Amino acid sequence: DGLIWLDGEMVPWRDAKTHVLTHTLHYGLGCFEGVRAYSTDNGPAIFRLNEHTDRLFRSAHILNMKMPFSKDELNEAQRASVRENKLDEAYLRPMVFLGSEGMGLRADNLKVHVMVAAWSWPSYMSPEAKELGIKVRTSSYTRHHVNITMCKAKANGNYINSMLALNEAISGGAEEALLLDNEGYVAEGSGENIFIVRDGVLHTPELTSCLEGITRATIITFAKELGLEVRERRITRDEVYIAEEAFFTGTAAEVLPIRELDGRVIGAGKRGPVTEKLQAMYFDAVKGKSAK
Ligand code: PLP
Repeated sequence: DGLIWLDGEMVPWRDAKTHVLTHTLHYGLGCFEGVRAYSTDNGPAIFRLNEHTDRLFRSAHILNMKMPFSKDELNEAQRASVRENKLDEAYLRPMVFLGSEGMGLRADNLKVHVMVAAWSWPSYMSPEAKELGIKVRTSSYTRHHVNITMCKAKANGNYINSMLALNEAISGGAEEALLLDNEGYVAEGSGENIFIVRDGVLHTPELTSCLEGITRATIITFAKELGLEVRERRITRDEVYIAEEAFFTGTAAEVLPIRELDGRVIGAGKRGPVTEKLQAMYFDAVKGKSAK
């Protein structure tokens, strides 16, 4: 059911198909976004739409994929996906991928396709997790291949590591993974940025080994509004163990407290006061109550 925007047209969900020789399916060169629409007093509103569209275009540029649509067209495709599917709260998935006109790694003769799908996905984490926090494990998979070349792109291929890390964390009894960079410093979660609170100061890894999270940027702005000092710097794994508070940020995870890392309880072992305040500001913003 529903409609998917594919290469400029709305097509029925079941007809939005691609060939088995789709290049991106074989080699993974492609990029995507994860975007959310929230129900507000003025109807559904896509949170940080321009920022997500800008990042999609930056990702495509890094991967040397020529976008066949403008930013305005992509913004409108996302709005139309929410509107025409009559969604109130939605997750949106724009993706840019290479067609099936040829195989091989040159890929310069291939068509660049763009799609936007939207579906109802009110919450990624349970209400308990938002309050009590989650258990996290440091992964044996690192962000190494993402670090230098593609950390600024939300590229399909980057997610192999993320998925292996998440599977490893879940099979080890945790709910999320923490990935380190190639030098052993804290990078990010499988699909989230990380923050810690130490001595009342907010710390988050600098943008050398993690994605330029849009939620991360929003939280930094809110923290400064609260008069909190924010430091973007390298963070070690043991600093997370002894932090007063730690939390993940992301479009899907929103602001998610971390109560335990590698079996060490963090702070009071539940959502701390700074996390609670920033989480409340975030939920207000997505609902259009104090959004910028
Ligand atoms: N880090 C990774 C690897 C991600 O996939 C995501 C999700 O998009 C994030 C961080 C958080 O980014 P954002 O807040 O823009 O959703």
